[in-house]
Amino acid sequence: MPDDAAAAVVSGALAPEWLALPDDPNDLAPGVWPASAHRDADGALVIAGIPAPELVRTFGTPVLVLDEDEARDRARRTLRAFGDAAARHGGRARVYYAGKAFLSTEVARWMIDAGLNVDVCSAGELAVALAAGVPASRIGFHGNNKRVFELERAVEVGVGTIIVDSDIEIERLAAITERLDRRQTVLVRVNSGVHAETHHFLATAHEDQKFGFTLEAAERAVERIHELELVDFAGLHCHIGSQIFGTAGFRESASRVLELHARLLEQERFTATGADGSVEPVLNLGGGFGIAYTRADTPTPIAELADGIVDAVADECAVRGIPLPVLAFEPGRSIIGTPGVTLYEVGTTKSVQVDTGSAVAERRYVSVDGGMSDNARPALYGAQYSARLASREGVEGPVLSRVVGLHCESGDVVVDHEYLPGDVTPGDLLAVPATGAYCAPLASNYNHVPRPPVVAVTGGTARIIVRGERIEDLLARDAGIDTGSAVAEGEE
Ligand SMILES: *Cc1c(COP(=O)(O)O)cnc(C)c1O
Repeated sequence: MPDDAAAAVVSGALAPEWLALPDDPNDLAPGVWPASAHRDADGALVIAGIPAPELVRTFGTPVLVLDEDEARDRARRTLRAFGDAAARHGGRARVYYAGKAFLSTEVARWMIDAGLNVDVCSAGELAVALAAGVPASRIGFHGNNKRVFELERAVEVGVGTIIVDSDIEIERLAAITERLDRRQTVLVRVNSGVHAETHHFLATAHEDQKFGFTLEAAERAVERIHELELVDFAGLHCHIGSQIFGTAGFRESASRVLELHARLLEQERFTATGADGSVEPVLNLGGGFGIAYTRADTPTPIAELADGIVDAVADECAVRGIPLPVLAFEPGRSIIGTPGVTLYEVGTTKSVQVDTGSAVAERRYVSVDGGMSDNARPALYGAQYSARLASREGVEGPVLSRVVGLHCESGDVVVDHEYLPGDVTPGDLLAVPATGAYCAPLASNYNHVPRPPVVAVTGGTARIIVRGERIEDLLARDAGIDTGSAVAEGEE
């Protein structure tokens, strides 16, 4: 490095390798934002026909904005992709929206309208799906520790599928179905030993986790289910991870699970029937399809993913001489992630200089009025996000920035690394894309910060689908206010 450069303050020296210096720090990377996102003549970010400043005037900040058409479209495209891929092999596919990624009655209805089913994993999520009018037969119920009252409720309302996760749960279901005198269809969750994450998958390393049965234990579990009068076995389930790119992990896992599936066919273990009354074996391969959080992420398009996975399953079935089961998939993130954009207001900025030895590197800290309470993923998983000015276009060149929240925690990062225009200033609105999945569901009231509203936008109109909390909502839970003080006074 030449001497004069060594003395200079270098903005990008702290940037990770994957973060490219943008030509224009106002551009909206394709695939990261909802398809409707663009800038208007004033340079403001527009989502589904509404400029960000207008949304903020109505709903305040922070606010999670969901592009309704983007969500509905992704749901439809996902179902079509898997349906078409299965049809090419003479088979059928079902798609369950994984409610844990984001669930409200509105979103559940979008999914049902698109022809999807809905997965839940608690009595609370089940209540939301039922309140949305989701037919119970179109609900899948997950969890490694479904409580007895939750199982009872699920059987009582006629949940379509319970995905059983342990021997103890099978015995509980045996008792509940007898007591209520109701039949229940189940899948058995297996841990195929494949654990996939982004570009890599591990073929053996993940037996050591809480979900599902090993392949050997699953065979015995199915044998036990076979003895039960009122529990019908529909097939195996496995979910290998999340934010997965490519098909290799799914193919490996499907291959392992199909070996057991074929054995169970031979043993005539499948008893759950389809609409026409004939036995209808199912294979559920879970969700986990990745999305782009930053321009460095290049997820496989859903149609390509569907073809790759379904072709692999069909090949495995052909080799074993067994018919293609009804295939089921459970995407959450890939449907609701990209439609979500969080809008914040910038409160403060400051620059820090770090001596890297060869240069003095600079990083701009941009503080917004939310943080780990509305997006825990960076703190929880080291998740990377991107950001853009939303109220206007910046005029200065790109400066390496870190967007942080307002919480009393140095790990309270919203966007770890991003190039933002050098003139970002208090009062600017900042937009963080791809926040539709696993942000609102993981939100907390850390530091007694109320959780933000969720707003659906479509065709130039916006409406609240989950209202934001107020400080009064938080105070309402504090038993020391009102009644508490009255008791204290009475004791004097
Ligand atoms: C979390 C989860 C999903 C959804 O995962 P995404 O990454 O959001 O697609 C699907 N199935 C099961 C069993 C899960 O636990």
